[in-house]
Amino acid sequence: MSSQLEKGPIIVSACLAGINCRYDCAAKSAPDIVKMVEEGLAIPLCPEQLGGLPTPRPPAEQIGDKVITIDGVDVTAQYQKGVEEAIKVVEMTAAKKVYLKSKSPMCGVGQIYDGTFKGQLKPGEGLFARALKKLGVMIEEVD
Ligand code: SF4
Repeated sequence: MSSQLEKGPIIVSACLAGINCRYDCAAKSAPDIVKMVEEGLAIPLCPEQLGGLPTPRPPAEQIGDKVITIDGVDVTAQYQKGVEEAIKVVEMTAAKKVYLKSKSPMCGVGQIYDGTFKGQLKPGEGLFARALKKLGVMIEEVD
């Protein structure tokens, strides 16, 4: 095992690594993140998919303490399940850091979409980001 893995891997939002896991079946590739995964230094995961949501899927945003799709469907339970599964990976691998896609209702750090589906932001964090903070895992946002 490499010394990198002995210290725990880096985990990244899968869409940043070029995986087409976003609601619209696209990715948001960040070249540095793709490189880390290609070099075996980082593991990609998508908490929304781990929660059982399909791809593509309707976009969802946080409204109050719920996550609601643009069609008005409450997907909070799937989001919570996705957080639970993603945290399992973080704990199993003793991940030392997680790079997270900005603005997402799941992965966003500091700012998320405001629930109006108009591309407007509000202060807040995604459910996965919140759980990682609570665990004390180092996180960094990538736009
Ligand atoms: Fe999945 Fe997070 Fe990317 Fe959303 S932002 S597609 S939950 S990895």
